[in-house]
Amino acid sequence: MARNEQPYSDTAGAGWVDGIPPAPLPTVPANLFIFSIKTKGLRNFLRRVHTIFTRFGFSERRGANGLHAIVDALEPYGAGPTFYVPGVVLQRHPQLMAGIAARGAEIGLHGDVHVDYRLLDRAGQYEHTERAIAIFDRHSMPWQGFRNPYLGWTSGSVVDCAELGVAYDSNEAVDHDISGLNLIQPELASGYSLSLSLYQALPCTAYNLRPRREDGLVRVPISIPDDEMLFDRLRLNVATVGQVWSVVMQKVYDLGGVYALNLHPERGMLCRGALDTLLQYAARLPLPVWLDRMDAIADWWRRRCQATLQVTPSGEGRWDVTADAPDEAVLLVRNLTVDDAPSEEWFGSDRLVRARRVHVQADRCPVVALSERTPPPVAAFLREQGYPVVCVTEEESAAYALYLDEPEGLGLDRRERAARCSRLVQLVETAEVPLVRLGLWPNGSRAALAISSDVDSITVQDFLLRILEWRDIRNARQGQARQS
Ligand SMILES: [Zn+2]
Repeated sequence: MARNEQPYSDTAGAGWVDGIPPAPLPTVPANLFIFSIKTKGLRNFLRRVHTIFTRFGFSERRGANGLHAIVDALEPYGAGPTFYVPGVVLQRHPQLMAGIAARGAEIGLHGDVHVDYRLLDRAGQYEHTERAIAIFDRHSMPWQGFRNPYLGWTSGSVVDCAELGVAYDSNEAVDHDISGLNLIQPELASGYSLSLSLYQALPCTAYNLRPRREDGLVRVPISIPDDEMLFDRLRLNVATVGQVWSVVMQKVYDLGGVYALNLHPERGMLCRGALDTLLQYAARLPLPVWLDRMDAIADWWRRRCQATLQVTPSGEGRWDVTADAPDEAVLLVRNLTVDDAPSEEWFGSDRLVRARRVHVQADRCPVVALSERTPPPVAAFLREQGYPVVCVTEEESAAYALYLDEPEGLGLDRRERAARCSRLVQLVETAEVPLVRLGLWPNGSRAALAISSDVDSITVQDFLLRILEWRDIRNARQGQARQS
């Protein structure tokens, strides 16, 4: 997903996201090198060529070292990374990728060739995903997840992935604004901004940092800045990158989300020190941070969302709370008394209860009540955040700890929805009223951490072939345009 190689820069925000049609085919000269020199300048272009030949080799050795370095970093923690691999790259390096999978890494789909899906029509996207899956199947490589090259997802590709059997995707970028850390030199700021705009990143909020179910997929957000932005765009050293990732980890922890870090194996050796700093930081946080692969995180989210939490009256000011949930799920309670099970201090006002059924005391029913005119998606959304929800009349509302009237629902487009859901999560999670809910993460973890990596190329040949692959797609699209 290294955007330095991306042969265009004017398509940000113009994909099929939220019904917006795909961008017109970018005008790219036949010779990508001339284009690259024009857009980056000769000095930067030569710098880039030098970098390519120092990070990739003609054999698999350097690429393999980068992959193993990431696996090595996670091994002491009993966890594995997730590598998203284009079908053609898996096809060229099946034994290497099988060896990496055998060491506990998840291998996920990353398109057939490394093309931005926003440049393909719906049928073209479908064919690419199908071809990628066929290659994985041919090499007996299990797959669960999909990450679009360049994070170039579209609403159509989400639906198609679910239809083709993909369990989750990881494409929604969340921007951890690092401008306050004074690390961006003025002369490098524009390149950094370009990366941000290409990703169509959402602001960092508690809601945006959580997975969500959509069109049959679990969608796990990905956090930026990634290794490319920090090492190449901002030219930071390893120690500083480790500090930045630790600052981001702290923020994700405070907001109770998932930190899906993205690396590229060609920087695997370079990243190793920063990765160690991040993993050590996460392990030292007061509450556990769940470190696992993306497929495990998506699977957990799906299972937890199927859990139910019943709150029924059992006497004056007393409530019976029953969870039908996976074994690893925990109850969280705040501003109420638990009668028949121990509770532990957890985070903020929330206390943790490791029981499936408890009796609690509270002056009002400790659930979220919604007005009758609040549309059903709001209730579904709050349940996904772990809260028991009921719909009540205004007269009944005084009996409930929290009453919300949200007649406008969650909004229609992506950004509106993100803003409204973020506001709702903030409102409910900071309300100092009696509430019970299911914890978002297993075994009382405060947050989740996944180390993911896009394996766009292993060798110099892979890197150069990407130019030809992209040219083939461009020619095919031009052919289609002429026929129509
Ligand atoms: Zn990629």
